Amino acid sequence: MPDQPDPRALELVNHLRQRGISDANVLDALLSIPRDRFVPESIQSNAWDDRALPIGCDQTISQPFMVALMTQELALTGSEKVLEIGTGSGYQTAVLAKLSREVFTVERHKALSEAARKLLEGQLQLSNLRFRVGDGTIGWPEEAPFDRILVTAAAPELPETLLNQLAEGGRIVVPIGSESQQQLHVVDRRNGEPVHFHSVSCRFVPLVGEHGWKVRD
Ligand code: SAH
Repeated sequence: MPDQPDPRALELVNHLRQRGISDANVLDALLSIPRDRFVPESIQSNAWDDRALPIGCDQTISQPFMVALMTQELALTGSEKVLEIGTGSGYQTAVLAKLSREVFTVERHKALSEAARKLLEGQLQLSNLRFRVGDGTIGWPEEAPFDRILVTAAAPELPETLLNQLAEGGRIVVPIGSESQQQLHVVDRRNGEPVHFHSVSCRFVPLVGEHGWKVRD
């Protein structure tokens, strides 16, 4: 018998459905991932709220609605090789791991990367993941091309380096704009050229690095 879903997860998923998330695979993945394990113990009671929460190192776990929307926009079929920039808590990473073949995830804060790795590979027993600590704005050239790339921090512009590591026919989802307000860009690579076709307003912590905002810590 499969485990009964957590009632708080069910409530969150129903809320996401009402907000327009329609991909059943995405909703199932969110239902199966215990978001409370990804936040500090002191705020675990807020873990099922549809909002971003602090995770240390001045960073946040993304709002569940944005996680669901970004994942839905990636249109994963299960066979993809995915690059994620900004591991953070690892929550979005876990969603990607459930819906794709292999996930390569980069985080600039070592403490966050190590905590996420322990949780995902240890407690959650996910095995299709590779972790790297470093500047994700340069991508992961040795493993390129990727079928999908997800950037979970706000970029000042479409990172050219990442676009170059996207497979032909692949898709990158990235928040682009100022440090305080962005649009979520969904960009396909067709005949080597970026084709933008959709975006909504959003707010993420800054992507800091060589091809992002300048380092401030
Ligand atoms: N998906 C994560 C989001 C964390 S916030 C979650 O839901 O938990 C964005 C993350 O991107 C932060 O952890 C931040 O440290 C990281 N980040 C910012 N710039 C980066 C860069 N150049 N390379 C790798 N990670 C970066």
